[in-house]
Amino acid sequence: MKLRHGLYPRFLLLAAGVLVVVLAVVGVMLHRQATMQRDVVTLSQESIHGLLFDRVRERGQAVAGQLADSLVNPLYYFDLDAIGEVLRSVLKQSDVRYVIVYDNSGAVIHDGSGDIATYGQAMDDPLAYEVITASEMHVQVSDKILDVSAPVRIGEQRIGGVRIGYSLDSVVADENRATAAMRVRMDDIGYQHAMWVLVMMLVLVAIGVMVSLVVQRSLVGPIRQLANAAREIEAGNFATQVPVTRRDDEVGDLTRAFSRMGDSIVRHDRDIRRMAYTDALTGLSNRLAFREHLDQRLMLVRGAARQMALLFADIDDFKRVNDTLGHDAGDEVLVQFSNRIREVIERDDDGRHAALARFGGDEFVILLEFSDIGGPDIRTQASRLADALVAELGRPIMVRGRQVFLGTSIGITVFPDDASNAAMLMKNGDIAMYQAKVAGKNCHRFYSRAMDQAVERRVHMEQDLRGAWERGELSLVYQPVFRLADNTLAGAEALLRWQHPEHGPIAPSVFIDVAEQSGLIETIGPAVLRAACVDAMHWTREHPGAKDLFVAVNVSPRQLRNGDLSEQVAQALADTGLPASRLHVELTETAVIGDEIRASTLLGRLRATGVKVWLDDFGTGFSGLSHLRRVPIDGVKIDRSFVADVLRDPDDLALTTAIIAMAHSLGITVVAEGVEKEGQFDILRERGCDLAQGYWMGYPMVLRDFMALLD
Ligand code: C2E
Ligand code: MG
Ligand code: MG
Repeated sequence: MKLRHGLYPRFLLLAAGVLVVVLAVVGVMLHRQATMQRDVVTLSQESIHGLLFDRVRERGQAVAGQLADSLVNPLYYFDLDAIGEVLRSVLKQSDVRYVIVYDNSGAVIHDGSGDIATYGQAMDDPLAYEVITASEMHVQVSDKILDVSAPVRIGEQRIGGVRIGYSLDSVVADENRATAAMRVRMDDIGYQHAMWVLVMMLVLVAIGVMVSLVVQRSLVGPIRQLANAAREIEAGNFATQVPVTRRDDEVGDLTRAFSRMGDSIVRHDRDIRRMAYTDALTGLSNRLAFREHLDQRLMLVRGAARQMALLFADIDDFKRVNDTLGHDAGDEVLVQFSNRIREVIERDDDGRHAALARFGGDEFVILLEFSDIGGPDIRTQASRLADALVAELGRPIMVRGRQVFLGTSIGITVFPDDASNAAMLMKNGDIAMYQAKVAGKNCHRFYSRAMDQAVERRVHMEQDLRGAWERGELSLVYQPVFRLADNTLAGAEALLRWQHPEHGPIAPSVFIDVAEQSGLIETIGPAVLRAACVDAMHWTREHPGAKDLFVAVNVSPRQLRNGDLSEQVAQALADTGLPASRLHVELTETAVIGDEIRASTLLGRLRATGVKVWLDDFGTGFSGLSHLRRVPIDGVKIDRSFVADVLRDPDDLALTTAIIAMAHSLGITVVAEGVEKEGQFDILRERGCDLAQGYWMGYPMVLRDFMALLD
């Protein structure tokens, strides 16, 4: 315990100070009392002394007076016997040391002894001088003797004198006795006094101890408890017991206020935690919370011979929802998705434990584990759950009164087979999910080490794609486009091909994606445009009959958004001499939708160059037919997924028919893609579709083959 600054030690220090002061005062008082006692004793001694002395002196004077009177006659007649008799009667008194009768010259006449040994001798003791010269009764005092002398006279004439010496021993003895008794009495009183003071001091100390106990119990104790609780709360230990009191004083108020404050801190902390750990949109755990949970689980499960699976689910083409229907609709889709995932997880819960989180965007993650050791094989279970999720999430979603079809790609990674730490597991899950996308989306894939290589390949691909055009690895093929009405050639779509020096031909769906994401498309795109124009000019020169055939070039959304597409097109036309009407630009829906106003401006500028603009893969986005009214385009290309089913699915046929009718009402040309069967060709012609391309009429072919076709 720290004593230096505490309230209680301070109080004790104060109490000790007060005690010291009181002790000092009492000490001074006692000292004064002792001095006073001493003074009183001295004074009394003096007064006793005076009293006793006076008594002796008075007696001496009386005796001396009488003696002088009774010695007149004997001295006059010089009767030594009579004098001796008188003197001896005086000498009988116990305290009389000497009696001397002397003549006027100071010589001894009688001293009371039988032989008067000193007779005739002059008195030579120290007191003698004053005795001889005194004319009246005279009293002198030495240390031990009181000397009283009186002249003996006849009438006025002095005939001699008498002196008596009284011993003062008895006076001193009496005095000492009285003083001793007095001192004993005084000491007694002093002792009693000191006792009283001591008792008072003890009472004072007792009061001090009591007050300090009260202070400790009622003030210091509670405050210390509060301080301890505050320290605990400060350290984040919110479970700590906050003191409770029913006291109706300031400390009670403080304690209650503290308790309320503690509660509100706990509440705030909970709120902040909830906010920090939950995804605001779906109410699911967020990435942070999931990461902590995963770390925790890994720590517990490690060494317990248990398996866990991590499922990374990503909505396919979710960006299109945002782009075409707006972000609010996107949010709605995410909420519905999260609800569905939750339902699937809870549906057949056979002893498994699944933690669900949203990682932001359209990514959901599930941590799957079994509570009992040696449970069912985790891979089988994860695969079952993934299948259930893909099936459930594949069902159409109603957003703003519109049916939206979305798929989900799921990547699965297993602990401890694939990785032993959270970071690696999450990376693996991501890779597996990406592979599910590459494999055609709307499916699941388990992570395998080979996938790492796939990711690496993608990085390599980007490096390889750089400069591929200059090295001649990229080339164009042409797929003929026919007029349905009379089955004549109308033009060709230029399609890019990449012949990789090591890996051979690479699918456009793969490398175009890489080119778009890396930005390489911005250098490849213009090159393709120019090459297509050059080729078109080439085949018109060789075949004058082909001077009306168009060439359609695919342009990536990124190229359009950059803003200088119309300049590029104009430049390519000017450089090659191709008439603008013979160049068609194909843009996907996503390039056009989103910011419709900006897109319309860009498309307007593009069309001002004289080229025609076609909307590619129409129907896969969510633009809907009404969208056709709002963007300035010349044609739509119905996606091959619809064409593929026109013979089997009446819905697809109805939609295709509706697109054709709608487009025609707006003066827009309709092109059907992916015609692989005669039946498809026939039905499209029957419904009034203008143009068609597909394997049934012709595969994409190199320029030489296409020219041969013109023959
Ligand atoms: P797209 O513009 O829709 O091109 C038509 C795709 O359908 C081509 O695939 C073509 O080979 C394929 N196809 C044609 N007839 C049939 C058929 O009867 N059945 C089936 N199943 N498929 C058919 P490809 O060549 O693999 O190109 C794929 C996509 O890559 C293109 O789709 C286009 O979006 C993109 N692409 C191709 N070349 C370029 C280019 O130069 N620039 C840009 N930005 N994108 C390109
Ligand atoms: Mg195309
Ligand atoms: Mg297409």
